[in-house]
Amino acid sequence: MATTTKAPPIDWRARAVDVQFDGRALIGGQRVAALSGETFDCISPIDGRVLTKVARGRSADIDAAVVSARQAFVDGRWSGKPPAVRKKVLQRFSELILGAKEELALLETLDMGKPIQYSLAVDVGAAARCIAWYAEAIDKVYDEIAPTASNALALITREPMGVIGAVVPWNYPMIMAAWKLGPALATGNSVVLKPSEKSPLTALRLAELAIQAGLPEGVFNVVPGFGGEAGEALALHMDVDAIGFTGSTRVGRKMLEYAGRSNLKRVYNELGGKSAFVVFDDFKDVARAAKTAAGSLFFNAGESCNAPSRVFVHESVADEFTAIIKSEAPKYAPGDPLGGKAQIGAIVDETQMRTVLGYIEAGRSEGARVLNGGKQVMSETGGYYIEPTVFDGVTNDMRIAREEIFGPVLSVIRFKTEAEVVAMANDSAYGLQASVWSDNINRAHRVARALRAGTVHVNSYDEDDITVPFGGFKQSGNGRDKSLHAFEKYTELKTTWIRIDAE
Ligand code: NAD
Repeated sequence: MATTTKAPPIDWRARAVDVQFDGRALIGGQRVAALSGETFDCISPIDGRVLTKVARGRSADIDAAVVSARQAFVDGRWSGKPPAVRKKVLQRFSELILGAKEELALLETLDMGKPIQYSLAVDVGAAARCIAWYAEAIDKVYDEIAPTASNALALITREPMGVIGAVVPWNYPMIMAAWKLGPALATGNSVVLKPSEKSPLTALRLAELAIQAGLPEGVFNVVPGFGGEAGEALALHMDVDAIGFTGSTRVGRKMLEYAGRSNLKRVYNELGGKSAFVVFDDFKDVARAAKTAAGSLFFNAGESCNAPSRVFVHESVADEFTAIIKSEAPKYAPGDPLGGKAQIGAIVDETQMRTVLGYIEAGRSEGARVLNGGKQVMSETGGYYIEPTVFDGVTNDMRIAREEIFGPVLSVIRFKTEAEVVAMANDSAYGLQASVWSDNINRAHRVARALRAGTVHVNSYDEDDITVPFGGFKQSGNGRDKSLHAFEKYTELKTTWIRIDAE
């Protein structure tokens, strides 16, 4: 009888020692230093050590990348290829991502501190699936013919925009890049990607894999650098047709200004959140609701735009609910991101850690009660770690309930009536995601409809699929990532009238 032997677990710490980093930009198919020769330190939040030097792109580097992207777009080396050809290249790109999954996962974890098992199982897989899904979709989407009078034909077609500037954050670096790249490249655009200065490494490697897959030079360029330098230059560039931005609402506002000050480029903003998780007393499985709230909030150390950071609980079940949250929270204690066991890893950098600790202090001083955590831990590592923190007795007007914390901090807000909780849930500048927990089908529908958010879950929180749009109402942004709707962001709608003369 054949026996199967299980592969020994990977010693990620040992592998980390041998990683070869390349922090140069990728422009026109070539790895290049910044034109100024400047670099910045890429620091690992795991232990605070400098991993490598990364090219510090500025406006001259952005300009070189945009020129290269425009040239590629105009000569049709990608934009002019039949959809079936673009499909094959992007499918190959997706396969290469999966083929390099351990390398990419290790880079991601070293660079931004999330546990290696999640980089492997979530980030790499989701990025590869996203590219493959848009590859598959592109030769299945048809244009339209309008129902006009018979003396003319009106063709309504979607055309690629041209050069897309993609500016992305550090919390899911590969996934956020893939959500822009998939639909933008599939529809024939060229892309200049500016990754976060806090997590530039996987974007650079992705661009190499894309070229290896057959993406022509110049179609996908990556310029690392700081937001106020490379990011601003890209968003102000007169030859960029659209900006696909994911990041904070503060910077999203600037993106709109940059467009107004330059060429009125399209701006698609995917911004912050302060998502409401509403638990009614008619939902019987309080434990499931509480465990889901904890798991969804603490995942990725709370560094998720859609984290349910405002948990509204009916007063009659609030004590039971908070007792369960209190016993769940320690399961999310941070640990070594390379150890393969901890549920959460490091906070992305010292600045973000200080911001989160500042919010914890603000919660305390405004009168909320800390049930769990609240402190920095593992400082002996040189890295940046915070305990999973739960606040009870929060009111919707406190800073911790109004501002995005982007860290492992959960706030419980008690309520009495449906009308009161709907009003509180909607009393937020944000509108990214929400959930309602109720066994009453009428109430579940009623409240789901009343919540002003781009995604509402009923009796769940984290369902996710590339087939559904993701994005927000209000100051959580405009436009949608994922699903076929993302094609709308990277294409222009054109009408072509063809007159048909009578004989
Ligand atoms: P951020 O806004 O500080 O930075 C995002 C990107 O913008 C980075 O690449 C940064 O370098 C760049 N940038 C910063 N200042 C700039 C400027 N003046 N001009 C041009 N570019 C600039 O956000 P962050 O801290 O990297 O990420 C966290 C934020 O992202 C949170 O608010 C989170 O909610 C949001 N986010 C939203 C989604 C979504 O889909 N809605 C997904 C993930 C993260």
